[in-house]
Formats: sequence, structure tokens, C-alpha cells
Amino acid sequence: MGGASGTVSEIVVEGRLVLDDRVVAGRIVVRDDVIAEVGPGGAPEAGPFIAPGFVDVHVHGRGGHDALGPEGALDGMARALLRHGVTSFLPTSVTAPLAELAAFAERVRRWMPVAPDDGAGPLGFNLEGPFINPARKGAQNPAHIRVPAEVPLSDLEPLLEGLRIITIAPEVPGSLDLIRWLAGHGVAVSLGHSSATIAEGRAGYAAGARTTTHLFNAMSGVDHRAPGLAVAALLEDAAYVELIADGHHVVEPVWPLILRAKPADRLLLVSDGVALGGTPAGSGVLGGLEVVIDGDRCVLVDGGNLAGSIIALDTAVRNVARSGVGLPRAVAAATRDPLALIGVTDRGRLAAGLRADLVELDDDLRVRRVMRGGRWFAGRG
Ligand SMILES: [Zn+2]
Repeated sequence: MGGASGTVSEIVVEGRLVLDDRVVAGRIVVRDDVIAEVGPGGAPEAGPFIAPGFVDVHVHGRGGHDALGPEGALDGMARALLRHGVTSFLPTSVTAPLAELAAFAERVRRWMPVAPDDGAGPLGFNLEGPFINPARKGAQNPAHIRVPAEVPLSDLEPLLEGLRIITIAPEVPGSLDLIRWLAGHGVAVSLGHSSATIAEGRAGYAAGARTTTHLFNAMSGVDHRAPGLAVAALLEDAAYVELIADGHHVVEPVWPLILRAKPADRLLLVSDGVALGGTPAGSGVLGGLEVVIDGDRCVLVDGGNLAGSIIALDTAVRNVARSGVGLPRAVAAATRDPLALIGVTDRGRLAAGLRADLVELDDDLRVRRVMRGGRWFAGRG
């Protein structure tokens, strides 16, 4: 960044700063695209909340643009997300043929260096499947589900570069070996779309899985005589869990169970948003399956399973903050913690030296403005 003449641009941002453990009145000095100073001062009572830019590591599309679409769709998706305070994201595939996933991976890699400055910044990509249990397919197309034991690792090598997160069902033949191999390549394996027993779930984490795809959804759950993956995920302190906080995927009375069971830095807010989110359209296609909007839910036409959400991450942060845990923990679950999972350290907190990605929120926690890399953009509220 920086002007052509070499001058440094400086922006001062004042408000109620959302830090890791508290909210304090303060000011941030941004120089070029970096947070230069964070300190006390500014308007103490009525200023906007200033949070780090949100990071959505599980999002399939937005504003009519699907991550599996052409490169122009990635531009559109990135721009639509930014208006909701999302400054970094992982375009996320649904379960699809391996050749299609390899093409998606290559498209994201080619696009990353030329992604638009006025959109959320890509950090790689996320694959939801195809190594999942058909019995827990959720809204994934069963025609493209694969068994790890039947796929040579050499077929997966084209997927590795840029792959940050992949969903795997640990109980499927060959999964534990695949988890070990992927973990060895630095990929964050996410257990999900799974009928695992608690023992099979624990074996998955022991093999190197580190996180959990949309907790409670499309997985064996909390049955006091037949505990499943959800119990393994809640009790494995080191494991992250994703929460789709739209109020439909996990109803709000259950949230405290997650918040009390998990260490404070192991909750990940994700949107699992689909392309229909942020559009007036009432129906569309997700991974080759027809979906329809029913109120504020997106469901499969065939069978009525929830098929991702139509919220963006700002709504998830607002919902969780209001549920009683407070803004700092909700924001950390949408910034610091997903970044820690995928090993990104140059952003995600209000701290000197980090990238100047900020969200300005009003008293109702709606996005007023978004700063990405030191430049302000209007929020969508
Ligand atoms: Zn998803």
C-alpha cells in the first residue's frame, strides 16, 4: 500500500474497542494497511464498537454467488461478504466429484493473488466432504460421497495446496489414515457428517483431527446411552467446534451447553452461508440439489433437510453476543479463534502490528463500516 509518492496514510479510529477479554474506550491509529497503535482515549461512552474484521472459515456463497462457480463468482462472494464485516474467508465447497474439487482448488489458488481489494480476503479453501458418511449426508449430494480406503492418496495431492479445512467422518474405512496424512500436511481436519460413536470420534481427534463441522448437525449426538460425535467434540478440550448461530441449526437454549463445555477459545462461529443468502431469490441449486428458502431457513426441496444458512457472520456474532456471553467472546469466536485453527497470525485482534481489518458496529451490533487493509467500506447493517 502507501501512496505513489511514498507518503504514509494515517487514519484514527475511536470507539469502544472489543479486546480479547473486555470492551474499553480507546483509539486505534492505522498507518497504511497496519494497526500502528492501540490505546486509551476517544469518545468513552457513545462511540461505536470497534472489533477486528470477521473471519468466516465455512461459507459456500453469498449474494447469488457460489464458491463453486467461476472466478467472477468468487469476486462477487468476497464483495458481498465484506459488507457484513467479513474481511477474511475460506471459500467452501460442498461434496462434489474429485475432479471438480481439484478444479475448484485450482480456481481459488489462481484467484487469491488477484482477489479484489474491496472484498473479503481469501485465506485458502475449505472442502466439506467428500469423505463423509452417507447416513449423515445432510444437504450433501450422496452421488459424490467417497470412501477414503478406495481413493489413493495420489488422487488427493492436487487438492493439498491451499487446503485449510476438510470435513471427514472418522468411522468410514480408511478415514483415520487419511486424517493422519492430512494433518501431517498441515490441514485442519474437521470431523462431521458422521455417525461416529464417542470412541470413533475420539479416535478421529487422536489421529489428528482438530475441529468439528457444524456441531450437532449431521452427526451422532448427545444420547445418554449411545453418545456420539457431538459428545466426543464437547469433551475433547483441544477440539474446536463450529456453531451456526442462526437459531435454526442449533436452537438457542442449547447454546449454553456448548459454551460451558468448551474452553473459551475453542468455539468457531461460522455462517455455513449459501449463495441464496443476501438475495431476494426464493430457490436455487446447491451442489446439484434443489433448495428453497422457507422463512429465514434454506432447505432441500427433497426431504426438507437444512441446507446451509442464509445469514452472514455478522448475524452470528450479534446473536451469540446477545445470548449472554458478551461481545468479546462472540467476536473472538469469529476472529482470533478460526485464524488460530488455520495458523494465520497477521490479523484477527486489535493489536499493533496486525493487519488493519476492522468492523465498526452500532449499539445494535449492526455493521456500519468495514475496514479492510486500512480502507473503509460501507456496511450493510
Ligand atoms: Zn457447509
